[in-house]
Amino acid sequence: MKIKKGDTVLIITGKDKGKTGKVARALPKEAKILIEGLNLKKKHIRPKQEGKKGQTVEIPAPLSISNVKIICSKCGKAVRIGYKVGSSGKFRVCKKCLQEI
Ligand SMILES: [Zn+2]
Repeated sequence: MKIKKGDTVLIITGKDKGKTGKVARALPKEAKILIEGLNLKKKHIRPKQEGKKGQTVEIPAPLSISNVKIICSKCGKAVRIGYKVGSSGKFRVCKKCLQEI
C-alpha cells in the first residue's frame, strides 16, 4: 500500500473534501486508512449501568485510499507516488519533485 501511518493526506471526495490530515492507521487489507480527526462518524455507546445515559462519541471511520491523495513532505503538494529501488530496497518518491517521501 502506498499510504502509510504518519503520512499527510488530502481528502478529494466526500464531506471532508479538501481537508488534510495525518494518517492514524493504515488498513492494507481493506485498502483503507483512518485519518486523525477526519471522516468522523457518530457512534452511540450504550450506558454501562441501567438508568444512566448513553454517550455519543465521534470516531474516525475508515476511508478508502482512492478518496485521498498523499501530500508530499518535500514539496507540500498533493501528488502521485512512484517507487524507486535503491541499495536499501524499495522506496517511495514524489512524482512531482522526485524526492523520497
Ligand atoms: Zn514532492
